[in-house]
Amino acid sequence: MSDQQRVVVVGAGNAALVAALAAHEAGAEVRVLEAATREERGGNSRFSGGIFRTVHDGLASLQPLLHPTNARWLDRVDVASYPRDRFLGDWMATSAGQPDPALVEMVVDRSLETVRWMHARGVQWELAANKLVDPDKLEPGTVYNMAPGGALRALGEGIGLMKCLFAAVEAAGIEVSYDAPAAGLLTSGSTVEGVRMRRADHVEEVRGTVVLASGGFESNPEMRLRYLGHGWDLVKVRGSRFNMGVMLTQALLSGAQPAGHWGGAHASPLDAAAPAVGDLRLTDKMSRYSYPYALLVNTAGDRFVDEGEDEVWLTYAKTGWAVRAQDRALAYQVFDQKTVHLLEPRYRTGTPVEAETIEGLAELLGVPVPRLAATVEDFNAAVAADAGERFVPFAADGLSAEPAGQLPKSNWAQRLDAPPFVAYPVTCGITFTYGGLKVDDQARVLDTEGVPMPGLYAAGEITGNFFFHNYAAGSGLMRGAVFGRLAGEGAAAFDCGGRAGSR
Ligand SMILES: Cc1cc2nc3c(=O)[nH]c(=O)nc-3n(C[C@H](O)[C@H](O)[C@H](O)COP(=O)(O)OP(=O)(O)OC[C@H]3O[C@@H](n4cnc5c(N)ncnc54)[C@H](O)[C@@H]3O)c2cc1C
Repeated sequence: MSDQQRVVVVGAGNAALVAALAAHEAGAEVRVLEAATREERGGNSRFSGGIFRTVHDGLASLQPLLHPTNARWLDRVDVASYPRDRFLGDWMATSAGQPDPALVEMVVDRSLETVRWMHARGVQWELAANKLVDPDKLEPGTVYNMAPGGALRALGEGIGLMKCLFAAVEAAGIEVSYDAPAAGLLTSGSTVEGVRMRRADHVEEVRGTVVLASGGFESNPEMRLRYLGHGWDLVKVRGSRFNMGVMLTQALLSGAQPAGHWGGAHASPLDAAAPAVGDLRLTDKMSRYSYPYALLVNTAGDRFVDEGEDEVWLTYAKTGWAVRAQDRALAYQVFDQKTVHLLEPRYRTGTPVEAETIEGLAELLGVPVPRLAATVEDFNAAVAADAGERFVPFAADGLSAEPAGQLPKSNWAQRLDAPPFVAYPVTCGITFTYGGLKVDDQARVLDTEGVPMPGLYAAGEITGNFFFHNYAAGSGLMRGAVFGRLAGEGAAAFDCGGRAGSR
């Protein structure tokens, strides 16, 4: 095979493996370089909950994709349709209208088609039915209305996703090199001709059209401090320890253009006792997303967010920021017996603090007793008398409270008055960073003058202009898969002969 059809994919997460498969199918000779060992391969994608946000027409339209084991959910859940406009609206609203619309539209418009493409290559799908609640704890006959944008996930979550993708890559005969960190780009002017790979005692040059899919810089404390600001060097990392931003930096040094929200990141509430970096035995089981039913208080005993602002899938990625801004980046989600049965099953990995009174709870937590008692009392005084009847657990119920001197709670506002009270300590866990390389809607990396850099494509977390301030769950994997495909196909079709003349 000639030089023209050689493709080097950097990274071995979701975006990278989709790119590798797409490039291989388009006729290229593909080599994947992964910084991690084989045991730790798979990036953040392996740690993920596996949710893919996609356009669909409701449960019946998803059924052909679902693994047979999903039959047990079909009469217990309802999934409304998730049309294009709603997906676009959720994306743009959570990102304050700032993403590049051409990039977002590309992801949204190709979402379902890409999920099907992955299915045809062996990725299995399931409903995320037990994600936010344990359906086995619901009253018989209760139908659980799933948030339509967060309904579909890879069978077996991130672990299952990456198992299927690696199986497809291996079946295709694509070469994957482990312990093979890319350390720089081989360039000639703006043209990219391959990568430099760092080995223990030498540097290897790997030539070919390059797809960068090596993640963001969330695992790198120095870059987090530099771009996200004070205190971010100390936050816990929810996922892979390998996403150090090396090739992001190297691409910028080679002339690529930075884009998007460099001071922003996806960061969510995480068990305060979670390890400093993601643990593959736990993956995302330390996340704490049932806070819409709680009062979320800091170590001073004060509330600091509207816990019920919207469905959790549209607020969790910014709630980590609010937690990080508190003293010691520590907060407590306080539930009572009216809602504790609604906690996500993964709360089982936590160690709650329980007490019969709010004062007793405050003492156990080391929070000023009068302050927490006053916070709860003032909050309870603002809750509607008929809140018990109006509370709807699985949809924004409009049950709001506006306590004096506190932030409002816009939905799910019930009194905290049914002991024993149960508190889960949480901190901020960073998921991935939003700033990255500027790409066009064909996944081509643009230089600082806005011109595509010949021979360089990028997909996934390493790219910017997709997310700002906040995020709608399941968009990260979907963005990586759609742009991974575009990058792989583009790289395979790239004409090396035209490199020099293309600028
Ligand atoms: C706990 C958790 C739960 C999540 N849940 C979801 C979810 O349910 N749905 C969703 O959409 N998103 C979720 N996300 C976010 C999602 O995982 C990411 O957006 C997505 O996986 C990014 O894919 P990627 O391929 O760009 O990066 P990654 O999957 O992180 O892959 C990057 C790869 O590059 C490798 N690499 C890094 N540097 C180099 C180098 N110099 N040379 C070679 N290789 C290198 C890494 O080892 C890694 O394998 C979650 C993330 C976490 C951490």
